[in-house]
Amino acid sequence: MEKYLKRSVESSSNEENSKKKHHCIEFNPDDVISDPGLRKPINEFDISIRDQIRREYLIRGPCQPFGHSYPRKQFGKEHRSFQDAWFKKFSWLEYSISKDAAFCFCCYLFANSQRGCRGRDEAFTNSGITNWKKAIETFNTHVGGVSSVHNDARTQLEAFQNQRQSVSHLLQAQGRAIEVAYRTRLTAVLDVTRFLLKQGLPFRGHDESLHSLNKGNFLELIEWYTQRNDDVAKTMNDNAPGNNQMKSPTIQKELTRACATEVTNVILNDIGDNIFSLMVDECRDSSVKEQMGVVLRYVNKQGCVIERFLAVVHVSDTSAISLKKAIDELFAKHKLSLSRLRGQGYDGASNMRGEYNGLKALILKENSSARYIHCFSHQLQLVVVAVAKSNRIVSDFFQYVTMIVNIAGASCKRKDKFRQIEHDRLLEGLEKGDIVSGKGKKSGNQFKTTRGYSLGFALYDYCSFNIFVEFCFTSA
Ligand SMILES: [Zn+2]
Repeated sequence: MEKYLKRSVESSSNEENSKKKHHCIEFNPDDVISDPGLRKPINEFDISIRDQIRREYLIRGPCQPFGHSYPRKQFGKEHRSFQDAWFKKFSWLEYSISKDAAFCFCCYLFANSQRGCRGRDEAFTNSGITNWKKAIETFNTHVGGVSSVHNDARTQLEAFQNQRQSVSHLLQAQGRAIEVAYRTRLTAVLDVTRFLLKQGLPFRGHDESLHSLNKGNFLELIEWYTQRNDDVAKTMNDNAPGNNQMKSPTIQKELTRACATEVTNVILNDIGDNIFSLMVDECRDSSVKEQMGVVLRYVNKQGCVIERFLAVVHVSDTSAISLKKAIDELFAKHKLSLSRLRGQGYDGASNMRGEYNGLKALILKENSSARYIHCFSHQLQLVVVAVAKSNRIVSDFFQYVTMIVNIAGASCKRKDKFRQIEHDRLLEGLEKGDIVSGKGKKSGNQFKTTRGYSLGFALYDYCSFNIFVEFCFTSA
């Protein structure tokens, strides 16, 4: 109880206390006093500066005033004084000129912090030794055995001087090693994530248990990487802490999200303050969720037209208002402004291009410069439908095409035959020089644009197709 009362009294004189504390917390070189008889006990310094004080004392070394005229004192019939020679014998020995007493340097710095000095040993840090008659005997007793207070203090002093072995240094070194291992592990996992994302591969497996033969792309790829890279192997699996394996689905998602954010930032930085166009289409995904894909089209700093897929947004329904709301949210999230929009392109659905309440109209209300352009592929489809409706031959042609594709697609044998005919024709074309082969371009480079390519390829396929039809009829 008394203890608490004392504390409350102390707290009442808060101001004084804080002053005192402030004085103690900041290291002041004046606190380091050479004369051991005038020193403040090391424990009275604030713990935060105690090591600093010790370091300062260690730099200065023990107070050994060689050559001082030590006063002589009477012991019985003899007069005795402190001897310089003792400094040579006991390197830790200190002499206080003011008190004419001997002290222990090691015990002053370290003994109190652990077990504390008791009895005779206490004199070496407090009052000092003044009995010169039995000085050597007292000094030897003070040094004592291996586990004496003095030897303990000496060991601590040596450890303190050798910072590489000190606990704090070991902890720091360990901390650095852990950090390096963590970085290696993170980089490896991130590399795997980036690879899977780039190739558009799924991460998870059906069975990710330890004994599974196929744990899914992510875990298998990490395993593969670990087996081939020693540095990574040293930081993965059993060499990593149990709670820091970096392989959990949550981590996978976080890394994926981080990659997505980075990619989005690159796109947004590329757009900068430029104007851009917006392309949107909505579709139902395999889990029957209505999704809206958003693509931005802009001219980059090099003057090239760039189309970048920005996001897939889940929408509750495909009404123009909810689509507009989703776009507004997306724009706000990425700090894009509708005022910089100069074009919008959608399919012909009424919710998109409706004259009054379609998405197009809603955006035009806010920004009249956002010109609407009907999607070219959808336009082409509309043209084909219109032509097929008004022309019997064209209509029949598309009907037959559908029927024959169905017949050919249903049988592997027929499909193989079709492929063979196509292959032969391709070979013939190459030999004759009608088709020029090119690297990375499926069947030649005569069709420069994507659209041209598909149209040309379709026509070319049509020739193969005719032969195939002949084959079907002759073999039937
Ligand atoms: Zn000592």
